[in-house]
Amino acid sequence: MAEIKTAICRFCHSFCGIKVTIEDGKAVKVVGDKDNPMYFGYTCVKGRQLPAQHDNPERLLHAQRRVGNGHERIASEAALDEIAATIGRLIAEHGPRSVALYAATYTFPYPAGRAMAMALMDAIGSPMRFTSATIDQPGKPMSMALHGRWHAGPQPYAESDAWILVGANPVVSKWAAFPSTTLPSACTTR
Ligand code: SF4
Repeated sequence: MAEIKTAICRFCHSFCGIKVTIEDGKAVKVVGDKDNPMYFGYTCVKGRQLPAQHDNPERLLHAQRRVGNGHERIASEAALDEIAATIGRLIAEHGPRSVALYAATYTFPYPAGRAMAMALMDAIGSPMRFTSATIDQPGKPMSMALHGRWHAGPQPYAESDAWILVGANPVVSKWAAFPSTTLPSACTTR
């Protein structure tokens, strides 16, 4: 028998409210939650494909170890032991800066993972920390470092005469373009 659960989509950082249809313990359908006071039922095509992503037969469910040109499954405890040994050897031979961290976009919906990764880098003593911003849009943090930040806050969307969105399409994905403090219903696609 099907039941419908209220949840949030964690495919991106917008966290749209969703309704998930569960059948026999399995998510089979995702639609926007019309009662959600932030998005009023909006979802993008990516969010609505969450069941397909969840059940994708190629989804990575276990730790893997590289073997030749392929990979093989490895127990998580063994993987951690091998990683620890490799990192220890790198630090001993080349110092803490030889260990770098890349915390990508998908770390945002799972904040504990990012905090743990930063704690690991603190323990190692390496400042080599990278994100999608440092890799594909370094101009943003560099310009803020050189020129400072605008402290007056973003222009409220609802009080603006017009907005021009450059390089963003909120119908496809909500994350880009709008400052987060301007996201309420005024900019929601219903
Ligand atoms: S914009 Fe799309 S992918 Fe992002 S949270 Fe909303 S439904 Fe999910």
